[in-house]
Amino acid sequence: MNKKVRVRFAPSPTGPLHIGGVRTALYNYLFARKNGGDMILRIEDTDSNRFVPGAEDYINESLKWLGIGIDEGVREGGAYGPYKQSERRDIYRRHVDQLLKDGKAYIAFDTPEELAAIRAEVPNFQYDASTRGRMRNSLTMPADEVQRLIDAGEQYVVRFKIDPGREVRVNDLIRGEVVINSSVLDDKVLYKSVDGLPTYHLANIVDDHLMEVTHVIRGEEWLPSAPLHVLLYEAFGWTDTMPRFAHLPLLLKPVGNGKLSKRDGDKLGFPVFPLEWHDPKSGEVSSGYREKGYLPEAVINFLALLGWNPGDDSELMDMQQLIAKFDLEHCSKSGAKFDYQKGTWFNHEYMMRLPDERLGELFMPIVREKTGKEFDPEYVARAASLVKGRVNFAGDLWDQADFFFKAPTEYAAKDVKKRWSADTPRIMGELIEVLEGIDDMSSANAEKIVLDWIASKGYHLGNVMNAFRLAVVGACRGPHMFDITELMPREEVIARVRRAIEQIPAPEA
Ligand code: GLU
Repeated sequence: MNKKVRVRFAPSPTGPLHIGGVRTALYNYLFARKNGGDMILRIEDTDSNRFVPGAEDYINESLKWLGIGIDEGVREGGAYGPYKQSERRDIYRRHVDQLLKDGKAYIAFDTPEELAAIRAEVPNFQYDASTRGRMRNSLTMPADEVQRLIDAGEQYVVRFKIDPGREVRVNDLIRGEVVINSSVLDDKVLYKSVDGLPTYHLANIVDDHLMEVTHVIRGEEWLPSAPLHVLLYEAFGWTDTMPRFAHLPLLLKPVGNGKLSKRDGDKLGFPVFPLEWHDPKSGEVSSGYREKGYLPEAVINFLALLGWNPGDDSELMDMQQLIAKFDLEHCSKSGAKFDYQKGTWFNHEYMMRLPDERLGELFMPIVREKTGKEFDPEYVARAASLVKGRVNFAGDLWDQADFFFKAPTEYAAKDVKKRWSADTPRIMGELIEVLEGIDDMSSANAEKIVLDWIASKGYHLGNVMNAFRLAVVGACRGPHMFDITELMPREEVIARVRRAIEQIPAPEA
């Protein structure tokens, strides 16, 4: 019988969650949902030196904004808690003791100074089977001496005793089998007496086991740790229930070579964090996708395709579609270039598909801020809808739709020159009468009536329509003229045409 799929996202709260971490969370979530499994959020905070206040809240808020749901975690609770490693000390201590008792680990007293000295003396020193015999540890010292030092309060670490010369196989669902020789590994520190906390490796393995994790999906930067993890499972006797590994490809710089960094974002003007981050120490502010005006669904779609493909040419996929299509087989081994312009494109596409009501909700605070006035939500939504094809972000809406909320105070000089001739004021006067006589201002109807009038008078269509637009908008820009006049109150349209007649100086005949 197949076990229930259980995956975890296991960030360390050492700063703002990086966009690569968000992608890891997303792939875990998609995999869990696809397979009817559980998604765990585990906070790996055993490195007290790197703890950053606010980072855990930031992680929670980011996942919530993006719609990456968590089944078990610090906030959500669950049957396998606690979900924060700093609250699991006793569990780790028990497991460390078990390894010590079984002779799979040992106690080492070497001070940082002693280690520095031997590193200086022995080229490429590594604490392992070839060197541990000359160090100060429980393998080289009599048991009563070890006990005496511990009782005297001497600080120590527990190291994993790795047998040399063995082939260690990591079976990775994305990379296939990775084989390394155990001799290249050092006797990793698993536990430190100084703070009574385990290191990442021990805590991670113990928790994955106890939380019955079936698949470890994480970034490629953790691949070098995987052989050690395999050996730890073995040392605990848990090989049979060892999770499957899947190491995701790196996110690469948009241009040039190497890993995506915050500097690339700063240089090219895109965020590398989901939400704006205010660094508690330096006060530095880093921009976030949310604050830049990205829609969460666009960020999700964009990230999903950085390192995975659906196996067909679908591009726009919402969360449900991603869940339906996601699999680890279509994750790539090679790094994914962080094509941030594609992210902008996705945002545009999602803006286009947003229901008018949500578009209006995004635009309303901007309108309020720019005008200091309250407008009808439906009016705001429809105005945004008329210009959405021309924007990538909600923040661009104002530049396109400002005229719906304020009459022009000046008229674009080059358009005036081109479109406002000596008899334009007279024709605009006639247009006012035509507009006043229309019963139904809906776009198609008004268009037909106005165009019929232009034709019957033998006027130049382009000149009349552009002068009309100039009067209402202030320049020759904006959506279809009769969509504008359908939405804008007729009195306002007429008032603007009147004002233009008065204010635009007639050119010399
Ligand atoms: N705490 C590690 C991190 O910050 C977890 C790595 C893993 O998923 O094993 O990414």
